[in-house]
Amino acid sequence: MNNKQITPDAKGNFSKQIGRYKVEVIREKCIGAASCVAIAPKVFELDEEQIAIILSQDGEDDQTKLLAAQSCPTAAIVVTDTQTGKQVWPLE
Ligand code: SF4
Repeated sequence: MNNKQITPDAKGNFSKQIGRYKVEVIREKCIGAASCVAIAPKVFELDEEQIAIILSQDGEDDQTKLLAAQSCPTAAIVVTDTQTGKQVWPLE
């Protein structure tokens, strides 16, 4: 395990976010299926280990980021509403 387990926004802040959702990838859950990349290619890409990483939190709008998270077969993408602090996906 390493500190890349949850991938933060590349710039470390969300001031330029299009919406209010923050996405994170739980690395050990990701199987490299890449459906997130297909839906939101400006937000996700696969690294050299074929694990999804965050390119930019502001690459796509909230709805697209949520759709990408919902497309993940292993629920490896966690979506948090930065205004409320509540987890939006996966449903708890
Ligand atoms: S859809 Fe899920 S399993 Fe596939 S690359 Fe994205 S985070 Fe990983």
